[in-house]
Amino acid sequence: MSSNLINEIDIVKANTSKISSVDFENLTFGNIFTDHMLICDFKEGAWQKPIIKPYEPFMIDPSAKVFHYGQAIFEGMKAYKDESDDVWLFRPDENFKRFNHSAKRLAMPKVTEDIFIGGLKAILDLEREWVKKGKGNTLYIRPFMIAIGSGVIAQPSTQYRFMIILSPARSYYSGEVKVIIAEHYSRAANGGIGAAKAAGNYSAQFYPTKLANERGFQQIIWTDDATHTKLEEAGTMNVFFRINDTLYTAPTGERILDGVTRKSLIDIARRDGIDVEVRSLLVAELIEAAKDGSLKEIFGAGTAAVVNPIVGFSYQDNYYELPKMDNSYASQLKEKLTNIQYKLAEDTFGWTVKV
Ligand SMILES: *Cc1c(COP(=O)(O)O)cnc(C)c1O
Repeated sequence: MSSNLINEIDIVKANTSKISSVDFENLTFGNIFTDHMLICDFKEGAWQKPIIKPYEPFMIDPSAKVFHYGQAIFEGMKAYKDESDDVWLFRPDENFKRFNHSAKRLAMPKVTEDIFIGGLKAILDLEREWVKKGKGNTLYIRPFMIAIGSGVIAQPSTQYRFMIILSPARSYYSGEVKVIIAEHYSRAANGGIGAAKAAGNYSAQFYPTKLANERGFQQIIWTDDATHTKLEEAGTMNVFFRINDTLYTAPTGERILDGVTRKSLIDIARRDGIDVEVRSLLVAELIEAAKDGSLKEIFGAGTAAVVNPIVGFSYQDNYYELPKMDNSYASQLKEKLTNIQYKLAEDTFGWTVKV
């Protein structure tokens, strides 16, 4: 690492903390933020000195490119506190790599490791109190980058802002999740930006998801855009299907985001003798398995909810209910993954990183 900007980071501390006003038992996801935020600006071809300062709104020009052309990317991560009050990150190097992969695809500058990883450690060190002990308590971390250069000419910005904000969260139970298998809308297409964690991928999902909500379904299982025959992702999560005792999940690629939770669950499952097949399951195979009773489970996988079991799905106006499973793969794998994250089980993979 040539530069070492993070060693000269400016820290302006908040005069008072709002932590005592927060009800940590009753948090709704992503609404409350900690006392500080990290900002690092890119201009004249270089990253400037990062600063950590009190969390507050900021001004940017109305013609900033982020508003008009959607140059915006983000990451989602969590910090965990163990029983000895140490704070841990989970595979932050994966989020760092993915962030720069997203940056490249959106014609944005790469951030350096010392700004991304060093910045995470610096702000988390300051906000340790906000990471609560006990399984289910986490501090959700949202690194993001936006184009702040002004001017409505349709070309990449020359100025960017990288930020990290932090939000205390309880692991959530999202209620019973029923899904619709997409027959018309698509999340991503070959050659598109589906493999990037780009803000625009999310806004593009809102309308079809709203239509699904109106029909009583919480999420959509996305299929490939060309034929709508291959099962790809569940909402904003990767997706797993269990047929008999085999787990299926689609290979990541241009249309499927390379989730950290997904690849960690694959490794844990295989270590523990569960057969995992990484291939695109076809809608037709899913329907057949649902009809003959071999379909046991469907679950989404992602940082926010970890594992999200699906109770049933709709396809071409038929509804298929999943069996109620004791000791499901979803619950076993969630337990094993979160035990590693909270340092309650040995991290044989070397995934956890101390702050
Ligand atoms: C973020 C995201 C995921 C999950 O990734 P994790 O690294 O496991 O949090 C899956 N699919 C999409 C489309 C995503 O944006």
